[in-house]
Amino acid sequence: MPTTLDTTRFGTYGGTFAPETLMAPLFELDREWKRWTNDAAFQAELADLLANFAGRPTALTHAKRLSKELGCELWLKREDLLHTGAHKLNNTLGQCLLAQRMGKRRVVAETGAGQHGVASATACALLGLECVVYMGSVDAARQRMNVLRMELLGATVRVVEHGQKTLKDAINEAMRAWVADPTETHYALGSVLGPHPFPSIVAGFQEVIGREARKEFHARTGKLPDVVVACVGGGSNAIGIFRPFLPDAAVELVGVEAGGLGVGKGQQHAARFAGGEPGVLHGCYTYLLQDDDGQIRPTHSISAGLDYPAVGPEHAMLHDEQRARYAWATDDEALRGFEVLAEREGILCALESAHAVGWVLRERAELAGKRVLVNLSGRGDKDLDTIAAARRAKDGA
Ligand SMILES: *Cc1c(COP(=O)(O)O)cnc(C)c1O
Repeated sequence: MPTTLDTTRFGTYGGTFAPETLMAPLFELDREWKRWTNDAAFQAELADLLANFAGRPTALTHAKRLSKELGCELWLKREDLLHTGAHKLNNTLGQCLLAQRMGKRRVVAETGAGQHGVASATACALLGLECVVYMGSVDAARQRMNVLRMELLGATVRVVEHGQKTLKDAINEAMRAWVADPTETHYALGSVLGPHPFPSIVAGFQEVIGREARKEFHARTGKLPDVVVACVGGGSNAIGIFRPFLPDAAVELVGVEAGGLGVGKGQQHAARFAGGEPGVLHGCYTYLLQDDDGQIRPTHSISAGLDYPAVGPEHAMLHDEQRARYAWATDDEALRGFEVLAEREGILCALESAHAVGWVLRERAELAGKRVLVNLSGRGDKDLDTIAAARRAKDGA
């Protein structure tokens, strides 16, 4: 056993800002993750699950009608077609397989939109692991079908009534449950967040998106995209598609955060780069939304999956290095993105992904003539109640 934890950082970001009780399980996880991700049989089993259970590779769709309308060449990486409806399953299959190899009997997870909870419950059912999912009561109310899905898959859903009753509070509870029983339990974190090694583990399992997309795009067009766009909650679908394009200096990378009701002073949003600054949350140093006293600021987004006050540390590094650019789209722009994609291309995308589409619509002048690849991180079935309510509010009914 190493005497110090690998302090892998992303530039000055990331790290391990964790209480003493968390250090031993983090050591173990760091060691085991490195061992198993270099194991050929582990990789072969994961590849088999991704192909024959989850449905990879996912399609790359040329959005022809919208391309014509916008005057750019728009392509969509279809993570919405993955089993359970979002990219989350890439990560949970990897982490649950890892948990099994580590001899764990139980997986705890947190969830915001419910997608990571559903993906965790799914992977646990498949691999015969017990699953407990923590979810803020606000999120549980706005995503009640996902609560039912998790329960049908055999998971226990623990509703969290602390704090803002959303994702941040669910992460606190899941970490507590992990520390209480680290011998039997693995904590499957749902995005590129938290103390090392989580941001690296999750990014490693999500890179498959970008590897496929880069290869497919080149095979179909003979070129690489000019711009790759993805929504950024914690940042896992974005890192997943960005990473394989990092060496391609000509490919511009754009992360779209939740602009909520607007990013002006006094308005609520979850645009960490537009309105935040570096600090520590959930074990990691990164950009976050905090007030002058260092207290975490309340966030708002129409999509539960983007409603989080911090962003993955790898994004913080890419931001400061200016290798990636971070923009935002408001709730209204996301709704417009959702509607346009539905009507022009026959795809009901997740409200998270709709932020990336909304940004493309807004920036159409800048994108004219360019090859634009958007990561469609998930499908919109889970959001239909929210969308119906927003449309009613707009109609003033
Ligand atoms: C969870 C989720 C997100 C946000 O998480 P990232 O880690 O930023 O990818 C985005 N889109 C969908 C569909 C999600 O379910």
